[in-house]
Amino acid sequence: MDYNKLSKDELIKLKSELEKQFDDIKKKNIKLDMSRGKPASSQLDISMPLFDVFNSKSEINSENGFDCRNYGVLDGIPEAKKLMADVLNTTPEHILIYGNSSLNAMYDQISRSYSLGVCGNTPWCKCDKLKFLCPSPGYDRHFSITEQFGFEMIVIPMTPTGPDMDLVEKYVNSDETVKGIWCVPKYSNPQGYTYSEETIKRFANLKPAAKDFRIYWDNAYQVHHLYEDKHDEILDIISECEKAGNPDIVYEFTSTSKITFPGSGISCIATSKNNLDDIKKKLTVQTISHDKINQLRHVKYFKDANGIKEHMKKHANVLRPKFEATLKVLDEELKGKNIGSWIEPNGGYFISFDSLEGCAKKIVEKCKELGITLTNAGATFPYKKDPKDSNIRIAPSYLTPNEMHDAMEVFVVCVKLVSVEKILSTK
Ligand code: PLP
Repeated sequence: MDYNKLSKDELIKLKSELEKQFDDIKKKNIKLDMSRGKPASSQLDISMPLFDVFNSKSEINSENGFDCRNYGVLDGIPEAKKLMADVLNTTPEHILIYGNSSLNAMYDQISRSYSLGVCGNTPWCKCDKLKFLCPSPGYDRHFSITEQFGFEMIVIPMTPTGPDMDLVEKYVNSDETVKGIWCVPKYSNPQGYTYSEETIKRFANLKPAAKDFRIYWDNAYQVHHLYEDKHDEILDIISECEKAGNPDIVYEFTSTSKITFPGSGISCIATSKNNLDDIKKKLTVQTISHDKINQLRHVKYFKDANGIKEHMKKHANVLRPKFEATLKVLDEELKGKNIGSWIEPNGGYFISFDSLEGCAKKIVEKCKELGITLTNAGATFPYKKDPKDSNIRIAPSYLTPNEMHDAMEVFVVCVKLVSVEKILSTK
């Protein structure tokens, strides 16, 4: 039943039925949080054997004999570089192992470029105007970084094959104040989209007007598949950029945050030799080395990328029923009503829902009244402003499948009620 085709009388009747449902739910005093895109504790349990890798009798030496308990080895131990290179389908000489968070690595990269410049170019703090491209909806914390550094953030619409590349090329190739673009190329946050081969090749073949333009390729969900038989795959951006004669235009980031322990994993930057030399020259002033004991612990535990692949199947087994519970309620309650659309991702951490225009904020508010917390509407856009006020990010990972089902039953009532009110206002 398409809500848009209902008569005014039918809509008024439906509205009062939905209001009754709303009041009934209110009496139940539900409290559930669908905003947190973090692993549930049952997922953290999967990685507990990491603690058994070392004890006080263990030798904590890397394969080249380096004592990992001591200072040194700024760019990471060789076996950790190999492990992360294999995860990213690149080679160890492109890797710098960073600290416990890829977001931290991205922030530092922007900060270094701002205060000290990129590979000898003018530091961004001395530029009159700075712009950054923001494929949206996207990851709110990316946008917070470039907002903090005073960039003008430009919304680039997302499509199922990646950002609108005509627009990306137009900006990057003609405007030297455009210094970068945020990308989550696989199972994007929040839509779960994966960039197509054509999109990636177009990225590699950009002809930036600014010599210090860089693609910030945040491959956070590279191994985070939900289904064994449906894996999205992407081209290796680093070799594509090399083939295109553009080896320096990309910084790739990833971490083991949602593989082992968020905040206690290892992260890395993968990029060209030029960029690595530039980063290391500046980083060496900031730190002597990152946590090599943790690097070695991760390598000893996983052994190789195949170990990570097997480990991720256990995460998928926990996450899949939560995504399925979410999608089932959306399908059963909203399909065919023409009041919202959603994406069924093959991996990642989110389900992205688009309401009728101008409804997202009201839906999130109504959910809150009923005890359901959602990520604030607008959070997935630069400056927290969704021009259509329609995108809502649903994070199924933290609740149980049953809780997710219950939370979504409340969500759909709110979507229906706000949508009926909107359609009625136009009659
Ligand atoms: N990048 C994306 C796209 C994310 O969704 C997240 C966390 O949700 C992060 C980075 C954070 O990664 P880390 O824990 O390595 O800082």
